[in-house]
Amino acid sequence: MLQALLLAYGGPSRAAAVFEPTYALHSHIARLTRTRVAVGERAGDFTLDIDEVKRVMVDAAPDITFLCSPNNPTGRAEPEDTVRRVLDMAPGLVVVDEAYGQFSPWSAFSLLAREPGLVVVRTFSKTWSMAAARLGYLVAAPEVVTQLERVILPYHLDAVKQAAGRLALAFRDEMEQRVSLIVEERGRMAAALGELPVDTWPSEANFILFRPRHRSGSDVWQALVERSVLVRDCSSWDRLEGCLRVTVGSADENDAFLAALREALT
Ligand SMILES: *Cc1c(COP(=O)(O)O)cnc(C)c1O
Repeated sequence: MLQALLLAYGGPSRAAAVFEPTYALHSHIARLTRTRVAVGERAGDFTLDIDEVKRVMVDAAPDITFLCSPNNPTGRAEPEDTVRRVLDMAPGLVVVDEAYGQFSPWSAFSLLAREPGLVVVRTFSKTWSMAAARLGYLVAAPEVVTQLERVILPYHLDAVKQAAGRLALAFRDEMEQRVSLIVEERGRMAAALGELPVDTWPSEANFILFRPRHRSGSDVWQALVERSVLVRDCSSWDRLEGCLRVTVGSADENDAFLAALREALT
């Protein structure tokens, strides 16, 4: 879906805006389609600064503006007011990537009816636990979908994948139950992390970004691995120096993580 959007609305002489740090594939696919990438910087707490959004809109006049809500890898969802203000300022399409949308209390779906320039992208990979199916979708105005149909290949969505997606929809209650368990566990983990010598950022996704205060991120990562706990090492990523990202799992997994982290931090 992201590639189709960039094939239809990006390309040479066009620009896509991203606000870093964010999901790396937005700028990566933009570059693959030879779309110029206009980079905005998030504030120190990783929220979107409206003056910075305005600067990027005026400087680059992007044909596509990417938001990621909740933002991967930092975790916070964009507030409704922020998305509305971006929509007001953006000269082109605004794509809200909601790969983690069901973990968040608010979705840009609620703005679609009155915002013809808004596109919401989702995937079966996260909340449906179906990453291997490679199935995603978007919701947008019919005019946008018509443009996308010009660039996607014929029969791009095979019958097996369609069957898998439909079958998954019959298990929506299970998905929602799983999501609400994870949201509950996320709260418990955030509280536990708050008691430890780490900086954390609020999350509306199924992961929490944190930065150990007294040991390097990669040392803590290694110490966790030695205790059979694998988290995402973001410590060498631009703008995320020293940070690790833990995915919220089952209560047992989260307990194992917290126990290992307490040891790893000392
Ligand atoms: C995982 C993810 C996607 C898409 O994942 P697919 O498995 O390719 O469907 C898109 N955006 C964000 C922010 C993601 O984290």
